[in-house]
Amino acid sequence: MFILVINCGSSSAKYDLFDVDGKSSDLCRGIVERIGEDSATLTHEIMGEEKVHRKVSCRDHHQAIEIIRDALIDEKKSVLRDTSEVKGVGHRVVHGGEEFSESTLINENVLKSIEKFSELAPLHNPPSLEGIKSCMKIFQGVPQAAVFDTAFHHSMSKHVFCYGIPYEYYEKYGIRRYGFHGTSHRYVANKTAEILKKPIEKLKTITVHLGNGCSIAAVSGAKSIDTSMGFTPLEGLLMGTRSGDIDPAVVTFLMQRERVTDEQVNDILNKKSGLLGVSGVSNDMRDILGAIKKGNTRAKLAYDIFVYRIKKYIGAYAAVLGRVDAVVFTAGIGENLPRIKDDLQKELRPLLGENTRFLIVKTNEELLIAKDTYELVSRLID
Ligand code: ADP
Repeated sequence: MFILVINCGSSSAKYDLFDVDGKSSDLCRGIVERIGEDSATLTHEIMGEEKVHRKVSCRDHHQAIEIIRDALIDEKKSVLRDTSEVKGVGHRVVHGGEEFSESTLINENVLKSIEKFSELAPLHNPPSLEGIKSCMKIFQGVPQAAVFDTAFHHSMSKHVFCYGIPYEYYEKYGIRRYGFHGTSHRYVANKTAEILKKPIEKLKTITVHLGNGCSIAAVSGAKSIDTSMGFTPLEGLLMGTRSGDIDPAVVTFLMQRERVTDEQVNDILNKKSGLLGVSGVSNDMRDILGAIKKGNTRAKLAYDIFVYRIKKYIGAYAAVLGRVDAVVFTAGIGENLPRIKDDLQKELRPLLGENTRFLIVKTNEELLIAKDTYELVSRLID
């Protein structure tokens, strides 16, 4: 069964077409980038063939979805003959608030909820919503599913997700820890159980997602019990451009002393901090490593903060879990820089003991979105 996965960001639309059945295969994938700019491009890759990269005219997400459809049913190199061959479209949606504990088929009410949660994820939910609405028109009659980044962390207890601020702000605005990257943490935790040949219900795992955004989760019995990202994806580990944990008093101090507005301080913490802000070099770990080799001490400091923060959270989550069967690293940095895993394995050995496995597992959020969509669509057919 052909399932299309769509992941819309503020100026991009990623897609991935799977043939999902007992065994799933990835048929083709690509991305429309710089939507709304003159320099918009499409990169399209049919598996096993060379990537095609070309300029496109693309003013909005609706047009991006049309470009994706045309790439999939291109006359010369068609993967599909017709859009009706797609039996389900799965959308990555960042924020599902307190409402969604699992993936769901999209109807009018779900659309309204995604729109409501745009207040909590103003950069992420609106483009997802545009992508969903366009797919509903362009792939007419094809069931659409939403797979939420927050859903996996729905299992956190109240004393874990509540902040120590006046309770009325939780009731009034929903200010609490939600956690993100849930699809990646869920995929990696399940894959770890497969690798260790143990039922996931019996495993206690710490999953460490280190990409441009970074987060860590304590997973017990297939359930997330704590995670480092919070009300927004700003909290927790040091990231490419995000600060992660800081004393909230820094915000008001900066506003007063630097005379910056709330928007500017938001920008500083989300886009000018992290590896980039500390090193002054780059948000990209490869550049940080290059600069360290040349003796750049601030790049070394950024790297050290990055790794120290991960170590601290692993220690905290070991306390939360009581026993750790595996610590699993994933995403761009986690998968490609085994040194972090190896160093932490050595340093944490006295704390965790000999039985904790340290692994690298390649994440595949798109595959999990495709599988969830397949499950939901299959239930419609049954
Ligand atoms: P995103 O969160 O955007 O999906 P990725 O998971 O692709 O990001 O991770 C991007 C990060 O992975 C960047 O910091 C990049 O430098 C890092 N990365 C990719 N390849 C390597 C590598 N070989 N060694 C070290 N870091 C790498």
